[in-house]
Amino acid sequence: MRIEIVPVFEDNYAYIVICPQTNQAAAVDPAQADPVLRRVEQLGVDLCAIWTTHHHWDHVSGHEAIVARYPSLEVLGSPNSGRIPCLTRSIGDGEQIALGSLRFRAVATPGHTLDAICYINDRVAFTGDTLFCSGCGRLFEGSAELMYQSLNDKLAVLMREDTAIYPGHEYTEKNVAFARSLTPADAELTAYGERIAALRKAEKPSVPSDWSTERRFNPFLRCQSRALAEAVGGDVGDPVAVFAEVRRRRDAY
Ligand SMILES: [Zn+2]
Repeated sequence: MRIEIVPVFEDNYAYIVICPQTNQAAAVDPAQADPVLRRVEQLGVDLCAIWTTHHHWDHVSGHEAIVARYPSLEVLGSPNSGRIPCLTRSIGDGEQIALGSLRFRAVATPGHTLDAICYINDRVAFTGDTLFCSGCGRLFEGSAELMYQSLNDKLAVLMREDTAIYPGHEYTEKNVAFARSLTPADAELTAYGERIAALRKAEKPSVPSDWSTERRFNPFLRCQSRALAEAVGGDVGDPVAVFAEVRRRRDAY
C-alpha cells in the first residue's frame, strides 16, 4: 500500500491511498480538487473512489469538481448528515471496503460530528477529525461520552501498536503544547514536543503518527491515568468526566 499526503487549505490533509497491485486509488477527504487531481495525474493512478470522513466543508469541498472530472467515481461516506456532496454509497458502521487488493473497515466514531467515520485496516487508520496526533476533534455534535467511547472503546480495539494514524489536520504542535501544559513534568512528552517542533520548522508534516505514540502522549487516550486525572482535578474512577474536562480546557487553550 502506498499513501500520498496532499496538504490542502491552511492545515488540512487529504490523502491518496494506492493499491500497488492494481494501481487503483482512493482519495480521503480531497477538500481541494486541484492539488489532489494534480497529484493523481502525476502518479498515474486509477482514481476510483472518494472516502469521506465527515461532512464539514474543509473535508468535502473538492467532491463536486473531482466527480466532474471522474464521473464514475464511487463516493463513500455516512448518510447521517445528508450533507456529503455526490454521495453514491452510504457506509454503515463495520462495513468492509475494497480498494483493489486492499481491504478496509469503516468505523462510525461519532463525537466531532454524528456522521464521523474512520477508515481502518491492520496497518493504517484515516481518522478525520476524530483522532489527531496528540489530540481529538472538538465536540460539535456529539457528547464527551460519545467521543470518549469512539476513541477509547471503538478505535482502541482495532488498533495495533504500529498502526499508522493519518488525521485530517496538522494540529500536532499545538496539541503537544497543550498536553505539556497538563503534565509539564513528563520529560518524554517534552522530548516528543521538541521532535515535532523540529519537523514543523523544517516544513515537514508531523503525520503519520502511530497508535503506540498516541497511547503514550495523547491526553484524550489517557483519561484513565491517575496523572492526567490529578492534572485536571478529576476523579480517576470517572474517565469520561476527565475527558470532558480535558476537552473543555483544550477548547479554551
Ligand atoms: Zn470537522
